[in-house]
Amino acid sequence: MNITKLILAGVFALVASTATYAEEAKQTCCEKAKAAGKACEHPCCVKAVADGKVCEKCNPKK
Ligand SMILES: [Zn+2]
Ligand SMILES: [Zn+2]
Repeated sequence: MNITKLILAGVFALVASTATYAEEAKQTCCEKAKAAGKACEHPCCVKAVADGKVCEKCNPKK
């Protein structure tokens, strides 16, 4: 039994899931909703969209 291989696989899985989480965290709530094919349900975003704008609180300009 190669325990080193097993540990490496475990570490890789952990790093991969952490990287995915970090990538998701970079997206705003509206981008995540859009990626899921939906409209953002945050009240502040719904209000901004109703005004024909994008919620600046959740989507700060870079
Ligand atoms: Zn939003
Ligand atoms: Zn918002």
